[in-house]
Amino acid sequence: MSDTIKTDIVIIGAGPVGLFAVFELGLLDIKAHLIDILDKVGGQCAELYPEKPIYDIPGIPYITGHGLTDALMQQIKPFNPTFHLNEMVAKVEKLGDAQFRVTTDGDKVLECKCVAIAAGGGSFQPKRPPIQGIEPYEDKSVFYAVRKMENFRGKNLLIVGGGDSALDWTLNLQPLAKRLTLVHRRDEFRGAPDSVNKMRALVAAGQMDLKIGQVSALEGGAGQLTAASIKTKDAVERVECDAMLPFFGLTMKLGPVADWGIAMDDELIPVDTGTFETNIPGLFAIGDINTYPGKLKLILSGFHEAALMSQKAYHYVYPDKRLVFQYTTSSTSLQKKLGVA
Ligand SMILES: Cc1cc2nc3c(=O)[nH]c(=O)nc-3n(C[C@H](O)[C@H](O)[C@H](O)COP(=O)(O)OP(=O)(O)OC[C@H]3O[C@@H](n4cnc5c(N)ncnc54)[C@H](O)[C@@H]3O)c2cc1C
Repeated sequence: MSDTIKTDIVIIGAGPVGLFAVFELGLLDIKAHLIDILDKVGGQCAELYPEKPIYDIPGIPYITGHGLTDALMQQIKPFNPTFHLNEMVAKVEKLGDAQFRVTTDGDKVLECKCVAIAAGGGSFQPKRPPIQGIEPYEDKSVFYAVRKMENFRGKNLLIVGGGDSALDWTLNLQPLAKRLTLVHRRDEFRGAPDSVNKMRALVAAGQMDLKIGQVSALEGGAGQLTAASIKTKDAVERVECDAMLPFFGLTMKLGPVADWGIAMDDELIPVDTGTFETNIPGLFAIGDINTYPGKLKLILSGFHEAALMSQKAYHYVYPDKRLVFQYTTSSTSLQKKLGVA
């Protein structure tokens, strides 16, 4: 287990609301660490609709999901938050007054004075491909994410899928692998055309294999794959492999949030609308994950919630200090924090 990280607040979820919370907290000198199961920030905006326009962000007539994520990252830069991506928060424990321990599935441990759950619709989790008997191999030789490329060096790899993740990992892992085979059910790919061209060039140069078909069976024992059967149009081919990486997209599941002892209402967290605190003092819920009378699952609602949550969090982080409300337009002290004065 790694050394414990100490910080003021841990934000669970780096979607738009978790990101904006860093800004509001930063203005109040509250240091944040953010944890997200995805390998990128932006939550639903980045994962589900990066190219789609959003028309209802106040003061911005039009911005894409990707554009909003970039703008938020720019806005919170002065506060230098620490991101732990590719990590799922598995456990949140209250240790005492204004003391929490947050543990990730990557065995990271963080201790903090407050926690803000900004987990949206829950954790994005990979879809399991319809291959019989895949479960015993999962996390041993079948992986739905690449945490460390080096783990795949010198191995026979099977990558399955036709989207950007499958293509990107094909291109990134091909130079390391002993032999890499990409399997996709049809000879058309949803991924970026440039990646498709690069992949096809590697196939033409004999540096990797492309099979059009579906993985129909797995061979191996004690969690270790040795080969996979691929059902193509005319035959079933056997391909030797040490590891398989299926990329069949992501689905949103509430995940472990339900096990943290927080009062829940139909997979949502009820909050006090003055502070966005849950039934546990110092534990907040903002954005799509919370519920209260009149709640609208909109980004602008989450931004408002982040601002009010930060005011209450201040009292846990600085119990002996008085909080003076200030505007960014007129406060030199806030402008100094933003690096503009
Ligand atoms: C197609 C589409 C279009 C939309 N259009 C609009 C629009 O026009 N205007 C608008 O205002 N809203 C729109 N929305 C809704 C908007 O995207 C959400 O309101 C917003 O994303 C909520 O932000 P959030 O930060 O609360 O949660 P999310 O964006 O869901 O982010 C939550 C993050 O938490 C992470 N997470 C969850 N559990 C854990 C865990 N245990 N450990 C680690 N990480 C975890 C997730 O991986 C995720 O990245 C749209 C949504 C969709 C799907």
